[in-house]
Amino acid sequence: MLPDFQFYDTIIVTGSGGKDSLACLLYLFELGISKEKIEIWHHLIDGREGSCLMDWRCTEAYTRAIAEAFDVPIYYSWLEGGFEREMLRENTTKAPTWFETPDGLCRAGGTSPKLGTRLKFPQQGASLTVRWCSAYLKIDVCAIAINNQSRFSGRRTLVISGERAEESANRASYAEFEPDRTHANTRHVDRWRPVLHWRTEQVWNLIRRYRVSPHPAYRLGFGRVSCQFCIFGSDHQWATLWLIDPERVERLIAYEEQFGLTIHRSMSIRERIQRGTPYPLLNLLDIAAALDDRFIEPAIVPKGKWRLPAGANGETCGSP
Ligand code: SF4
Repeated sequence: MLPDFQFYDTIIVTGSGGKDSLACLLYLFELGISKEKIEIWHHLIDGREGSCLMDWRCTEAYTRAIAEAFDVPIYYSWLEGGFEREMLRENTTKAPTWFETPDGLCRAGGTSPKLGTRLKFPQQGASLTVRWCSAYLKIDVCAIAINNQSRFSGRRTLVISGERAEESANRASYAEFEPDRTHANTRHVDRWRPVLHWRTEQVWNLIRRYRVSPHPAYRLGFGRVSCQFCIFGSDHQWATLWLIDPERVERLIAYEEQFGLTIHRSMSIRERIQRGTPYPLLNLLDIAAALDDRFIEPAIVPKGKWRLPAGANGETCGSP
């Protein structure tokens, strides 16, 4: 069932740089929704304070290129200091959240005196209590950015996200349409997951039809794209990442050793690298594109040149 788009003043497509959120955006175009209502929101996992621990370097530039290609505004938001600061909390308060708006950069939160200590990676699990990266760096950031913008007060907003049932039993249990967690007496906010019941082929077919360049990580063979060093990464992914980006893998290994606790509870990153086999067909241009903080390719691939990336048939490990 489609929402009544006339009902909403603003439609926010939350994006990760991956194929599913891209398909959500393209689906709105298919449905003929006015671009004037649409905005893309992207949460920067590493923040903008200098940390560069977890995410693909190209993701911010890639998402901006997609937004520009379709002439849709994009707003970035993040927890100050990103993943690394949150992970290294030791008797410190939660950082403030920063979010771009049509009127400029805003800041909210970070005022609670409550002290907390993590000094460990998020745990692999469906519960957001232990998988704190999803909660603190994405879900809460989005909610804080909505709750603290008066432009949503007294208005109707539709938030769109790209979870798909095929990806996990947890996602299969999500509602396709429901009130968003930011819905309140003072503002109407709904959540729609338009691709929840889509198959992977449908997603790629839509991207092919619009000839959108997939995130470079798909060309390297990654089947799902969000954080480069996702805590749910497989042995083969760790072996691939070790091959293409060893310095950053070493930093994660150093944190495992410092914490005395590995990301995977029974195997260290070093052990996982040894167990895995790097993805085949890696080429230097694709590696360079994924690890570049610029995105210098056309966001829309010239006619006849679009190719299904290796990752379209790749492993599907990732956030549950
Ligand atoms: S992609 Fe992986 S590491 Fe990144 S926030 Fe989601 S679960 Fe955490």
